[in-house]
Amino acid sequence: MESKIKGFMDLVKQRNQFEPEFLQAVEEVAETVIPYIASQEIYNGKNILLRMCEPERVLMFRVPWIDDTGEIVVNRGFRIEMNSAIGPYKGGLRFHPTVNLSILKFLAFEQVFKNALTTLPMGGGKGGSDFDPKGKSDVEIMRFCQSFMGELFRHIGPNTDIPAGDIGVGGREIGYLFGMYKKLRNEFTGVLTGKGMSWGGSLIRPEATGYGTVYFAQSMLETKNETLEGKVVTISGSGNVAQYACEKATQLGAKVVTLSDSSGYIYDEDGIDAEKLAFVMHLKNNKRARIHEYITKYPTAKFFKSAKPWSVKCDIAMPCATQNEVHFEDAKNLLANGCFVVSEGANMPATPEAVHAFQAAKILYAPGKASNAGGVATSGLEMSQNSLRIVWTREEVDERLQKIMSNIHKSCIKYGTKEDGYVDYVTGANIAGFVKVADAMLAQGVV
Ligand code: GLU
Repeated sequence: MESKIKGFMDLVKQRNQFEPEFLQAVEEVAETVIPYIASQEIYNGKNILLRMCEPERVLMFRVPWIDDTGEIVVNRGFRIEMNSAIGPYKGGLRFHPTVNLSILKFLAFEQVFKNALTTLPMGGGKGGSDFDPKGKSDVEIMRFCQSFMGELFRHIGPNTDIPAGDIGVGGREIGYLFGMYKKLRNEFTGVLTGKGMSWGGSLIRPEATGYGTVYFAQSMLETKNETLEGKVVTISGSGNVAQYACEKATQLGAKVVTLSDSSGYIYDEDGIDAEKLAFVMHLKNNKRARIHEYITKYPTAKFFKSAKPWSVKCDIAMPCATQNEVHFEDAKNLLANGCFVVSEGANMPATPEAVHAFQAAKILYAPGKASNAGGVATSGLEMSQNSLRIVWTREEVDERLQKIMSNIHKSCIKYGTKEDGYVDYVTGANIAGFVKVADAMLAQGVV
């Protein structure tokens, strides 16, 4: 089996030599899915995983725009249309200076499995730009979004490819992108998700990724007859996902003690309650300030510069910042401090070495493609509401979200339970996602 996996990875590496994040994501899937493929007659000789590693289409384009000083700036735009076997391409747009082909291909690859896990009919895609929204004026953001959509509009559509937000792309950016698409196409459709409530958005969509990550942790805890009540939680990040993970964990009785951004993390021993979280949201969403401002308002909290919150004692860790933010040393620290649940809100936040450390310790560890699927699942619910031209209530959407997260958990148990009863959520999520997409690909022939 080892040599089969190695042979497969050698081939993928040859073709994608300079794409470390993509190779990392593929290897993790290959390690768990190749042994499964070997055990299933129907997949033999079909090269399905190899086909899944090749995007159906990669779009790369120039995004020129004029900044506030009148200078012409050029950024690079991307859209990876990865797999449409079970539905139109679906996935977010990331605006961040680190964005490149490797990062977007890893995200698009993960998205294929994640979207399949939601049970909704969505294929996988991802896009974005190396544009840095930090420090840009509102008008600069608008001009950039308009230029970006000036090319992207040709390639997307409500039945073709439906982008949404990711890091650096929130409600404001979706609004500018949607406005430009509508102008160019003269069409009002659900082509983007994460829209504002008065123009086709869904209730709970902003909360969904964070809430879903907590719901998933809840399901994992249930397998040990445990609840969130009284648990100490460390969260990294302070954006959309982290904010709503903090809100839901607190509502369910846990105590969240950390949040972070690229400048460092804050530690509040008393817990970041609803009032304190409202201040964080004001800081990050309105003032676009750094997280250390928190200690000016709550001086009993501490700020740790340029550090991550993984050495803080906790029961549950929720990495909600970005990829590869939890290293082997961090995993060892978390385990040594008694952490026994990790529910990822970000995409691939743990390095392979960190993942292996969690699994070797047999703690409850959920990969992002399972635990953070609530965001895209609710995007799927937004698409349904758009198609039906109706709006569901908060309760209706939240109920569906909870049901979807619980079903994802069940799929992971189905495919990830080992002989000794340990649930390997990575294996479970990868195989469950693979089976759905692979069966559709088999049925549709070699295309
Ligand atoms: N960017 C989110 C993710 O990583 C959401 C994508 C979407 O809603 O389409 O799943």
